[in-house]
Amino acid sequence: MNKLIGAHFSIAYGLGDAVGAAKKQGCDTLQIFTKNPMGWQEKSLTKDEIDNFLSAKKETGIEEIIAHTSYLINLASPEKQKQYLSKTALIQEFKRCAALKIKYIVMHPGAYIEGSEKDGLKRIVENLNLVFKDADGSSPLLLLETTAGQGTNLGYKFEHLAFIIKMINNKNGVGVCFDTCHSFAAGYDIRDEKSFQETMKKFDEILGLKNLRVMHLNDSKKGLGSRIDRHQNIGKGEIGLGAFKIIMNYKRFKKVPKILETPPSKTQNDLKIIFNL
Ligand SMILES: [Zn+2]
Repeated sequence: MNKLIGAHFSIAYGLGDAVGAAKKQGCDTLQIFTKNPMGWQEKSLTKDEIDNFLSAKKETGIEEIIAHTSYLINLASPEKQKQYLSKTALIQEFKRCAALKIKYIVMHPGAYIEGSEKDGLKRIVENLNLVFKDADGSSPLLLLETTAGQGTNLGYKFEHLAFIIKMINNKNGVGVCFDTCHSFAAGYDIRDEKSFQETMKKFDEILGLKNLRVMHLNDSKKGLGSRIDRHQNIGKGEIGLGAFKIIMNYKRFKKVPKILETPPSKTQNDLKIIFNL
């Protein structure tokens, strides 16, 4: 079975504690927010917080840690003020993650709100170019997450992400996070071997499988192509256990961190299900 299985862990008791909690549940990877994801207020890390986190990594041997950006960031927004706040927040996220030696930052591409999808995608490219202006080779990779396409959210078609990657200056600075729930809701079937292979073939042709750096493993409350983003516990939704079994045994995902994002109260149980597949 593939390794690198983890979940999203809370940093309520500190960044280092999240790493310890993941280890306790048998994970060899995890995802965190480096700040409150529901607010614009930024956070700079103290030396103690950074040291604590780095020593927790060392003690547990957990190397692959993923940060998820604030939900408020929207680089596709037509509002100048929103764009400014989003860019500032993303730059701060890069700074925190560089200090914490976190390799991957996962971000939802954005919602265009008004106008066309193309307008929104162009705004994402422009804003990313500004964010990446000062990036160097040691910067974390920004992973654009596949979405369900609810409302005006972009990223529900692989082509959206391919457009962004093709058009930005810093092509080596980005990759993709494939969320099973989102992509299934967007219309990409993965429920059996045949449909899974077809979806991966499409991903490879449009985005390149080498760009798939992280997976979010979530079942979906809503059906194929529903365009509604509702996570469900593993095996309890419309996707079903079969898909997760295929993913866990798919050789090309051996080195891809796989993160569960189901509600914290059920994380332990969902991890057990995954470990037993
Ligand atoms: Zn996700």
